[in-house]
Amino acid sequence: MVSVTPDHSNHDFKPFARQIVMCCEEPHLIKVEPLPDEPALAHLHRWLQVGSYRTKADLDRELQLEISGIPGVGAPGTFLHRIARASHLLPSQYAQRHSMLGALFPVVGPADQCAYGEEVEGKAIAASHWRMPRKGAFVCRSCIYDDLHSSSISWFRRAHQLIGVDWCPVHGEPLACALGHDAFGLLPHVLRGEAQLSDPVVDVRLPEDGFVRSFVDVSLGLLARTHPAPSAALHQVLRRRASDLGVDGTGWRKHRLLSDLVADLADEGWLLRHVPQFLHKVMGRQFLRIDKILSQDDSPAEGASYALALAALYDSPADALSAVDGRCGPSSGSPPSGGDPER
Ligand SMILES: [Zn+2]
Repeated sequence: MVSVTPDHSNHDFKPFARQIVMCCEEPHLIKVEPLPDEPALAHLHRWLQVGSYRTKADLDRELQLEISGIPGVGAPGTFLHRIARASHLLPSQYAQRHSMLGALFPVVGPADQCAYGEEVEGKAIAASHWRMPRKGAFVCRSCIYDDLHSSSISWFRRAHQLIGVDWCPVHGEPLACALGHDAFGLLPHVLRGEAQLSDPVVDVRLPEDGFVRSFVDVSLGLLARTHPAPSAALHQVLRRRASDLGVDGTGWRKHRLLSDLVADLADEGWLLRHVPQFLHKVMGRQFLRIDKILSQDDSPAEGASYALALAALYDSPADALSAVDGRCGPSSGSPPSGGDPER
């Protein structure tokens, strides 16, 4: 394996990668380490570019050759498993640090109960290893500035790609976005240099408190978890908490619907921007995208719905995440900040 530390400050580092390959008698896998909190999709694009691989299949061919030579490695698994092994990480470590699974699948049914990245994952989860929660590639201009001053390369953060998170959790600044088809194929400072970044979608800093701030902190906490929570157990916990507040998922006996509570607490513009289906929400009428959390134990809701429910039902993000942990074991630790030091 040839390990390189290319100069990413050059906008086009393909010639450098070709030089590395040509100086060897035979082509070797060029190893490209993932960066802290870097989304797996962005890491993949960086690897393809540094190694001058035309397609994911070309890279995978070399990964399989490389991994087959590592003692103790069993079944080749999925593409994510091979990327992880070549990065000297366990697949579960790679998935937990670089995939968006904690945001996409914070809660699952009984058939999908395993740590993110394990080889026994269900098909839907395994098919989402490279999936991003929302369209576009989001960046913080201050993170770009800090990156270039500390390491001459800028990179994407998972924390910036979450639904509803319009701000950098480290700097509190509104995020900019590149909407191109292949936005993750360019480094953030290159997107900035080529004027491909939009103006921020909000003109205020990250709120210090309130519902949206709770949502942001809960979302970061869910992304940091090692395991999804089991839907039946968590829904029961949330139903008990909701009952104490006079809230439920059916409107039975004039209880307040959870979706009504969310609609009352959240800023309307923010809510419609991130969950446009709320446009069809009628107050007093069940909105299953949210209310199923309190009315159906065996059917998990979509990822962002849990952050909305938890932020609405609990007094603090810490209380909300403790409720999730209480039924599902300890989480992996601190939420990703987007600016954590190297592991
Ligand atoms: Zn930042």
